[in-house]
Amino acid sequence: MIQTRKIGDAKVTNVIEYSGPTHDPAFLFPEAERADIDRLESEMAPNHWVPHMGKLIVTIQFWIVQTGTSIIVIDTGVGNFKPRESIPRMHMLNGLVREWLVAAGAAPEEVTHVVITHLHADHVGWNTTWQDGRWVPTFPNATYYFPLDDFNFCKEGKNKEPGVIDVFGDSFFDSVMPVVDAGLAKMMRPGEEIADCLTVHPAEGHSPGQVTFRLESKGEVGIFCGDIFHSPLQIMRPEFNSGYCIWPEKAREVRLKMLNEAADQSALLLPVHFGAPYCGYARRQGDGFLFEPATW
Ligand SMILES: [Zn+2]
Repeated sequence: MIQTRKIGDAKVTNVIEYSGPTHDPAFLFPEAERADIDRLESEMAPNHWVPHMGKLIVTIQFWIVQTGTSIIVIDTGVGNFKPRESIPRMHMLNGLVREWLVAAGAAPEEVTHVVITHLHADHVGWNTTWQDGRWVPTFPNATYYFPLDDFNFCKEGKNKEPGVIDVFGDSFFDSVMPVVDAGLAKMMRPGEEIADCLTVHPAEGHSPGQVTFRLESKGEVGIFCGDIFHSPLQIMRPEFNSGYCIWPEKAREVRLKMLNEAADQSALLLPVHFGAPYCGYARRQGDGFLFEPATW
């Protein structure tokens, strides 16, 4: 499933790998009580929360930016045939992402840049494809941009240290290192500009090196905000971290800063895990914020 919208001159398309009522709130947002979500039911249901199941809807999607001669893929989901025994819904997928990429005008061999907000397993999977008994880059003519601090964290094995939430797992070896070994990877830091249209901004906290990408064209702003938010719940209650945030205080600080920036600039927030319509705006309401879904 794909949807396309414009941000100024840039064409922005999302490709959905899967979406569904998969997450118990106590698991995804350990600090939230059921009553916190019930109070926001009119904002959360039916696209982000299924009350009678008690499940949050979580999507895995990619964003594609087409501008000038560049075709940029932002984050790459879970991937096909990746062994993920510990997370059954991600284990050995055989989905239609490749076909949807072609439909969206982003056939893998035509993609010029792949940019990754952070290296968690659900954001790097389609970096590689299983072919002839090994993992090879899915986008053979692209330069892949990886956040340096996440890369170093995994490279040094810090994700495997006791007490660390390891959401990187084997994906570092089957979805990141094969790209590095093929000579297609560049490490990026906040402050850089990619493809003359995306600026890289710091957003550490959810992971050690998470970044966001800002697209500005003809006065319109879009922010590819990775996992600063997993759900509109965190726009309305920004103090709730996901259970995967490695540095809780920093993650809250980054979320609040992003909300203020997005509200001040009327920026379209383009996350990875929201339910339909998969992106939207943070609007001020009293001392807090409200989620305004984007129009289709
Ligand atoms: Zn994620």
